[in-house]
Parts: sequence; structure tokens; C-alpha cells
Amino acid sequence: MALLELKNVNVRYIMKDKKVHACQHVSLEIEEQDSIGIVGESGSGKSTLASAVLRLLPHRITQVDGEILYNGKDLLKLTKDEMDALRWTDLSIVFQKSMSALSPVHKVGAQMEDVYRVHFPNADKNEIKQRVYDLFKVVNLSDRVYELYPHELSGGMMQRVSIALSLLHNPRLLVLDEATTALDVVTQSQILREIMSLEQNLNVTRIMITHDVSVVASTCKKIAVMYAGRLMESGETKDVLVNPQHPYTQGLLKSFPSFKGAKNDLRGIPGSLPDLSQDIPGCVFAPRCPFATEKCRTVEPELKTINEKGNWKVACHKVGGE
Ligand code: ATP
Ligand code: MG
Repeated sequence: MALLELKNVNVRYIMKDKKVHACQHVSLEIEEQDSIGIVGESGSGKSTLASAVLRLLPHRITQVDGEILYNGKDLLKLTKDEMDALRWTDLSIVFQKSMSALSPVHKVGAQMEDVYRVHFPNADKNEIKQRVYDLFKVVNLSDRVYELYPHELSGGMMQRVSIALSLLHNPRLLVLDEATTALDVVTQSQILREIMSLEQNLNVTRIMITHDVSVVASTCKKIAVMYAGRLMESGETKDVLVNPQHPYTQGLLKSFPSFKGAKNDLRGIPGSLPDLSQDIPGCVFAPRCPFATEKCRTVEPELKTINEKGNWKVACHKVGGE
């Protein structure tokens, strides 16, 4: 059984005069100890999907349907208390701007103690301190940060505190939503290396949301490519990046100079995301796709499995023998 299985997940933001379809028919399986990178241009629904899994969407303005099975249990059906019991120990997320995770009026260490005591109310102060110091090493922070107030930290230090906090209870599923993007390249790769070694020792599964395909290439076993709220292609990183099948994946990779080709080869894909409040017939990528046919403009392609292992999937009429 997959650790996390999304089945036909739809997310809509309800606005005064329209509904924005931020995720549509997303189906994805994430196995235990997978590391999966979710990529796609800005506005493609990556953060919305992650927030749906963690049940962090503002519920008055969102509609979520489908199934989000964690260990076989549908997270969408859990009560608030049941969901809270899973936070930190099972599910943990770090956003790019995680300043809001900490209160400005208490020292960093004291707040980490509070989070520790959510699941271990009787924990000893020294034991917690030791645990936090160990995590500070993972994210390359000195012990003195324990006694500082959030306003005394730089943005990068704050981000690293948030990552340390997310690891406090050894979560089984860790979601990093552009969590390391703002850090300098050396610090980013150092932290990711440390997190990857924790994953091996502690059985952590990681979802990594990023604009940077080269980070996925070096740190994720699998990749999922989103466009306009849909999953376009997913599979093992080594398959998808070496031999991308979906025209969108192909275009996306061409736009990453660090990954393929020379620096001046930054082409991007002409055009922009469609209006997500409109019903789009056929394939959402058809208006920008150089290979689109009449069928692409009228019939929505299903996600088809294209390899024998059954873990490479593509939503394109042109792929998979039609
Ligand atoms: P980025 O790479 O810029 O972080 P993303 O892939 O994470 O983008 P989302 O933030 O999930 O994309 O946004 C998906 C769509 O949902 C966009 O069209 C966005 O405008 C819309 N959206 C996101 N949050 C809200 C909100 N609170 N209210 C209304 N629409 C929203
Ligand atoms: Mg986002």
C-alpha cells in the first residue's frame, strides 16, 4: 500500500464571482521512503495540492473533493482532533515564507519545547534541548539560536529554524514547499544532504515542491509535473528527466538552462497558463502545445501508464500508443 495516495483530487477556490479550479483530477501514489519532486510553473497548483493534503486550506473559501489516503485513511474525512494528532509526527510541512510559524514574543527554543510537548507532555527540558541542538546541526545553526527571539534571526536562519521544527517529531511524510529556495546554494545543498541521510535512517518520505528541476534531479527519486492544476507526467526522475514524454515536460526542461543545454538557451514555453476559472475543453496544455490536434482541443487526455513497472504516467493523447 502506498503511504499517500491521491485519488481524483479536485480543489476549487470560491471567489465572489467565480470558482478557480486550482487542482483537477489529481491522482498520485507516493510510496514509503519515496522522495518526490513536484514541479511546474507558478500558479500550477503545487502549493494548493500540498495544503490540501495537510488540510491547511482556508475551509470557508475552498472546496476539496476526491480522496487523500494516508496509510489507507482518508485525511479529508478525519475530525480536526484526529488530524491534529497526525501533525508533526506523521505529516509536517515547511513553506518558503515560514515566518508565521513562530510567535514573535517567545524565544525560539521555548517554542520548540512547546511543539515537542504537544506529543510528549512530560518531556524533560534537557532532553528536548539536546534534541533541538541535534536538529540545529542538521540545518547548520549554532546552539545559541535556542535563546534568540525570532526577530533576531535573518530570513535564512528563520527558514532553517522552520525546517528543524518540522523534523522535531521525525515525521513520516515531510513536505518542503520551496522551503530551501531562498537559501544560498551551498546551504541549500548541505541541508538537503542532511535531510536525505535522515530519510534513510528514519524512514521519512519527502515531497519537495520546487521550481528548480536540478534540485529534483539531485535529491528526488520521483518527479511529478503539474500544469494548470493537472498532473501532466509522473515517474522516476531518471526516466522522466532523461526522456520526458509529455510536450509540457519537454518544454519545461528546455527552459532550465542549468539542467540541459547552455545558459543562453533559456527558451521557456511561449504563452501563459489558462484562466483557471473557465471550463477548459480537451487538454489544458493544447493552446500552448506545438503538437496539438483537434482531439487535443476537445477530449481531455487521461493519465496513462507507459512503462512495464507501472510507475511512469503521462496525460497526453500523443503518448502511449494512440
Ligand atoms: P507558485 O509556484 O507560484 O508557488 P503554485 O504552483 O504553488 O505556484 P498555487 O499557489 O497552488 O500555485 O495556486 C494555484 C492557483 O490557485 C492559482 O491560479 C492561484 O491564483 C490560485 N490561488 C491560490 N491561492 C488562492 C486563494 N487563497 N484564493 C484564490 N485563489 C488562489
Ligand atoms: Mg506555491
